[in-house]
Amino acid sequence: MIDLHTHSTVSDGTGTPAEVMAEAAAAGLTTVALTDHDGTGGWAEAAEAAVAHGLTLVRGVELSTRHRGMSVHLLGYLVDPDHPDLVAEMALTRDDRWPRLRKMAELMEADGLGVTWDDVLEQVGDADAPGRPHIADALVARGVAVDRGEAFDRWLHNRSPYYVRHHTTGTADAIRLVRAAGGVPVLAHPFAVKRGTALLEDDVRELAEAGLVGIEVDHRDNGSTGRELAARLADELGLVPTGSSDYHGDGKENRLGENTTTPEALAAIVAAATGRIGLVGPDSTP
Ligand code: AMP
Ligand code: FE
Ligand code: ZN
Ligand code: FE
Repeated sequence: MIDLHTHSTVSDGTGTPAEVMAEAAAAGLTTVALTDHDGTGGWAEAAEAAVAHGLTLVRGVELSTRHRGMSVHLLGYLVDPDHPDLVAEMALTRDDRWPRLRKMAELMEADGLGVTWDDVLEQVGDADAPGRPHIADALVARGVAVDRGEAFDRWLHNRSPYYVRHHTTGTADAIRLVRAAGGVPVLAHPFAVKRGTALLEDDVRELAEAGLVGIEVDHRDNGSTGRELAARLADELGLVPTGSSDYHGDGKENRLGENTTTPEALAAIVAAATGRIGLVGPDSTP
């Protein structure tokens, strides 16, 4: 069982990288990817834990990008974590997440929602990439929302008056950057309409031209029509189809292994990587 999209406390998941690996093993996964937002800070801990649990780890990242004004998440598997341009671009996004989140918290506090920047900081803990889910957790801790889902539906969605953008990379540029770093770019939840990502077929064709390698077909946020469309585009454009949970720990309903990727698709991803980063664990040698 292969699940190629998970988050830890290094970004907006609720489990540490080691905990995510332990949970992945307990859930019966054989292979799991750690794909925190805009950084690779969880890789070392995840690798050590994966080895301890006999799991195969795919080291990855999920970049915050934009295409025609839409928020688009781009998974980058097996990238060189020291590639200077990639390092610089991820740092730019992470650095901009702080003032942006603070601005959102202040707007909410000013409106009397009962959440302060200090509350949010407490939820952020030592995350490298703080995000809206940490504001959601602060609202839950204050008893203002029951869970992250309610907090997003009411106050944190992309069209909310409290929404503030952070730096993002153009999606085509991010695709080229991932490839320059030896990695494999895969479009995450391309038809997650609720998140403000509703790419058109031609957008995906354009991104394929830019060097996209794969597309997340089986993801709960794609919905059934989105899955069909993604599968058809994968066929048409020769993109590798993946399926993943986008596990964030306790913060979201997504369960490890709720969607999975075939061994053939993983093999195609590994074959498309051109850098020094390979798999960690039992399947690391062909
Ligand atoms: P940010 O990167 O700070 O803009 O926050 C985006 C993150 O919020 C995503 O990566 C998801 O983890 C989370 N998210 C987005 N929409 C929802 C939702 N409706 N419910 C729960 N979490 C969400
Ligand atoms: Fe997230
Ligand atoms: Zn995402
Ligand atoms: Fe994700």
